[in-house]
Amino acid sequence: MKKAILLLTSLFVLCSNVFAATSELLEGDFIQKAQKRINEIGFKILNYNGIEKRTVFEFNPRNVKNAYSNSNNRQIVLFRGLYYSLESDDEVAAILAHEISHSVDSYNGIFRGAFSYWSYAFAPKKYEYKADKKAVDYLVNAGYNPVSLIVVMNKAFPQGRYDWYSTHPLTSRRMMEIYEYIYKKYPEYLANNAYKDNVYYQNFLLTSKENRAKFQKKIETNSKHSVNYL
Ligand SMILES: [Zn+2]
Repeated sequence: MKKAILLLTSLFVLCSNVFAATSELLEGDFIQKAQKRINEIGFKILNYNGIEKRTVFEFNPRNVKNAYSNSNNRQIVLFRGLYYSLESDDEVAAILAHEISHSVDSYNGIFRGAFSYWSYAFAPKKYEYKADKKAVDYLVNAGYNPVSLIVVMNKAFPQGRYDWYSTHPLTSRRMMEIYEYIYKKYPEYLANNAYKDNVYYQNFLLTSKENRAKFQKKIETNSKHSVNYL
């Protein structure tokens, strides 16, 4: 009996060690693959857009739903939590393209951009809209579908109540500004929309009805004013 218990205990210890070692290997493999993927997509965007400023990409395995661009060391960090929501290379590219725009901006100004953060801090929403539009251009130039930016936002970015207390505009507004920009500059992506059956895109169409009616009116009246989207 004693021998049997001893044998079972050793077997249990052995199994849990093997299990721990296997999951560590799988985890390492996952991180390496994610890093390689964001490097390949990120550098493709940089090269196809002829961006002469250096930027590097870091995959962070913490389960946080975020990505950011560090204006001091020009490193773009994509966290696991957000990475999990990205279902295609176009969607990974959408997040990286937006952050690349911030990274390029961080080079502007005196002392190699030492004060660029303050330009952002004084008018963050202006820079967010700019980064979204720049991202659309970057995506198209690198061969990615820019509608993916709307899809990612609608799927993963929460919707605040107001945006006056936030650095970021309301997600619904950002998505409409992107929609408007694609409509004017790259209409072929909407006319022949690869995302038309995508549930997240369909949900955007559903939730943006009022905003799109405002946009429709702007087109019909040939207005030059910007629309105050909800
Ligand atoms: Zn941003």
